Amino acid sequence: MTSKIVSKNLNLWYGEKQALKNISLEIPEKKITALIGPSGCGKSTFIRCLNRMNDLVDKIRIEGEVFYDNNNIYEKDVDVVELRKRIGMVFQKPNPFPMSIYDNVAYGPRIHGMKNVDKIVERSLKDAALWEEVSDRLDHPALGLSGGQQQRLCIARTLAMRPDVILFDEPCSALDPISTGKIESLMETLKDNYTQVIVTHNMQQAARVSSFTAFFLLGELIEVGETKRIFEMPQMKSTEDYITGRFG
Ligand code: ADP
Ligand code: MG
Repeated sequence: MTSKIVSKNLNLWYGEKQALKNISLEIPEKKITALIGPSGCGKSTFIRCLNRMNDLVDKIRIEGEVFYDNNNIYEKDVDVVELRKRIGMVFQKPNPFPMSIYDNVAYGPRIHGMKNVDKIVERSLKDAALWEEVSDRLDHPALGLSGGQQQRLCIARTLAMRPDVILFDEPCSALDPISTGKIESLMETLKDNYTQVIVTHNMQQAARVSSFTAFFLLGELIEVGETKRIFEMPQMKSTEDYITGRFG
């Protein structure tokens, strides 16, 4: 199995506080990897390191390496805009721009001077399983969509940039169960073409969608493996305690 992203001895401090401790983790290509662990254990911090979203945070210090297709993304000459095009991110709270449905998806392609924007918009909305619900009102404001539709729109916006990797940080925690189910089946359909990483505090969700699961605790990577094995035969006591609900 090929690794798409590899972190090696990744350490991160916010000021004096160390939020990531020596994280070495391989993200397999074209699989879904889930990151689980109690609130505050560093899941978001870690996932944001994978496309350098932490760069602009004040008083941050990062040591170690993150390889994307065998290139260290923390090298000085890396084009961060291009990197974030290749490694897109979907956030907890759907964040469409205050413009039309069409313009949301067209936004990135236009900025990057991509051709055939109409086609890109249609294909992205289809791939995000939203086309049928919005094709007759592409000029309506995106903020008029339901929360679940807005989240699929954000996924369409990410897909429009033709990414290679999609990072999801708790993409369903603001959604109802039906919308959550739609996002999960969407991830399933994207599986063959994209490498996906999902942070989730919902262990059933991790079990349902992912092939691999990594358990984080207090800034450390405690255990990683095939999802079935992690849930059925955790090797570490703290993993077992977490998945059986004995703490946070
Ligand atoms: P998780 O996503 O697992 O809930 P986070 O990565 O958000 O965890 O946070 C890990 C730790 O880093 C927490 O103690 C949190 O308070 C701290 N932290 C997160 N973001 C910042 C920031 N921008 N500045 C300072 N501390 C932060
Ligand atoms: Mg988080």
